[in-house]
Amino acid sequence: MTSKEEKEILQKAINTFGANQQIIKAMEELGELSTALARYFDKNKIDCNNIYEEIADVEIMCSQLRLIFDNYVIDHYKEMKLNRLKGVVW
Ligand SMILES: [Mg+2]
Repeated sequence: MTSKEEKEILQKAINTFGANQQIIKAMEELGELSTALARYFDKNKIDCNNIYEEIADVEIMCSQLRLIFDNYVIDHYKEMKLNRLKGVVW
């Protein structure tokens, strides 16, 4: 799938369900990833496929949050934080 197709689908989801609903959905998906990662430390409940699925869900929702909020400001913060991290690990 091209990034253009992906962006069209995500924008249609926002138009169909509304920005507020998608923000709530993002909160739900973040919670699901948090739960999947917490289970990683429970040796009896390791389910990597669940982690992969929830990471995909969160990435999809973060992409929608970028369309709802200010993509350029997010990029600005991301670059700033990556440079700070670079300073720590280099
Ligand atoms: Mg999920």
